[in-house]
Amino acid sequence: MTSQFLSELARMLGSAVLTGDAVSDKHRTDMSLSGTELPLAVIRPRTTEEVSAALRVCHAHGIGVVPQGGLTGLAGGANPGADQVVISFELMRGIEEIDKASATMTVKAGTPLEVAQQAAAGAGLFLGLDLGARGSYQIGGNLATNAGGIRVIRYGMAREQVLGLEAVLADGTVVSSMNKMLKNNAGYDLKHLFIGSEGTLGIITRAVLRLHPPPGNINTALCALSSYEDVVKLLRDAQATIGNIAAFEALWRDYHVYSSSALKFRFFENPYPFWVIIESANDMETFLGGALESGLITDCIIATSEIQARDMWSVREGHAIDALPNLINFDVSLPIAGIGAFAEACTNALKTRWPAAHVFCFGHIGDSNLHVSVSTHFGAAEDMHDVDDIVYGTLRPFNGSISAEHGIGVMKRPYLAQSRSPAELALMRTLKRALDPKGILNPGKVI
Ligand SMILES: Cc1cc2nc3c(=O)[nH]c(=O)nc-3n(C[C@H](O)[C@H](O)[C@H](O)COP(=O)(O)OP(=O)(O)OC[C@H]3O[C@@H](n4cnc5c(N)ncnc54)[C@H](O)[C@@H]3O)c2cc1C
Repeated sequence: MTSQFLSELARMLGSAVLTGDAVSDKHRTDMSLSGTELPLAVIRPRTTEEVSAALRVCHAHGIGVVPQGGLTGLAGGANPGADQVVISFELMRGIEEIDKASATMTVKAGTPLEVAQQAAAGAGLFLGLDLGARGSYQIGGNLATNAGGIRVIRYGMAREQVLGLEAVLADGTVVSSMNKMLKNNAGYDLKHLFIGSEGTLGIITRAVLRLHPPPGNINTALCALSSYEDVVKLLRDAQATIGNIAAFEALWRDYHVYSSSALKFRFFENPYPFWVIIESANDMETFLGGALESGLITDCIIATSEIQARDMWSVREGHAIDALPNLINFDVSLPIAGIGAFAEACTNALKTRWPAAHVFCFGHIGDSNLHVSVSTHFGAAEDMHDVDDIVYGTLRPFNGSISAEHGIGVMKRPYLAQSRSPAELALMRTLKRALDPKGILNPGKVI
């Protein structure tokens, strides 16, 4: 049965199909490092037609298909099972067109985000999507997860950067909606079925991305504050006074101290309770001077060079914490006013259970998104599960979401019902059944 499937796949797709020893270890897992199994085969298509052919064969045989982009996901969404095949987009890359009049870019799904950003810049335009490890993600993966990142406050989530999309359905049908218009209300906007559905409703092959005028020279400042309430006031005052805020990232003290010490950066003498990186193409000096005078901020540096701005961002990106044992990264969202109280309650609950635990809070506060990174040092499976229970249990009364931007994948699936009502979950299942009746698209993920 399996050998018949594999030989049919090879007959249809030839050298695009890898099996046996040719399947490399990297296909086991995304960056959550939670996947363990090698797939039956890896298919590396170069065209939409090849993706369609692969799905037709898998559909006929009822074989599960797991799309893989840059494998940077943090929710286990791209992890395959041993009886499934992977469709990897590593060879399906490139910019097909930049239309300056429409301010759009047409890209293939496997194009790395950084390549798309550079192509937009080369045409005198700007792509409003940016995340930490921009060289590794693919546009297809970014859209399948509806990625967020550091520019959401200015340009919106990945969803907002898409005008047109092409996707292949479970049975191989190609749905090409490569629209370039900002306005198009001709019936349902089908692209939104596929954006953010983590490869469970269709496989994204190409997209038309919306481009923007370049933002101009960006100014970067690092501010110190004494309370979360002041962080929120700074956000709202900055939006009202400076306008055009390009980034607003907050770091809680413990995270800032750990990350800046690891990098040997010392911006201020005092370990202030809160730190904010704020960016705008507009002049920030007068506003920040006023905020210092009124006591809203307690200290402030405006970067005088690109290197200094980069150093500030390195502290925010905080790769030093990645080396901590059994690190679990949470990605929650909740109404902005409640984030400070949630962070405090969550830290207290975790430290009560594990007094030596590291609990780091930081995030895209302007987008209501908080990251909580926890290292308990123990690493027993039940501890990891208890960490989930404590964090999500603390989140419940705040009416937050268990996933702001990383998606559900497999890791957050047991908690999905906390963030979605029974009616929402039922409609998700109806959509899944309608689009993928055999359940072959990324089985076991999301719903
Ligand atoms: C250092 C670091 C920083 C990060 N920062 C952010 C951040 O700021 N904001 C944020 O939102 N995320 C962030 N992430 C998470 C992750 O990088 C994003 O979710 C990213 O969009 C995933 O892209 P990818 O190409 O690596 O996809 P993968 O990890 O390969 O796949 C992700 C999901 O999309 C599916 N998929 C992939 N390609 C396709 C396709 N063509 N069609 C259909 N489904 C597909 C997969 O099956 C899987 O479910 C970060 C990750 C790391 C490691």
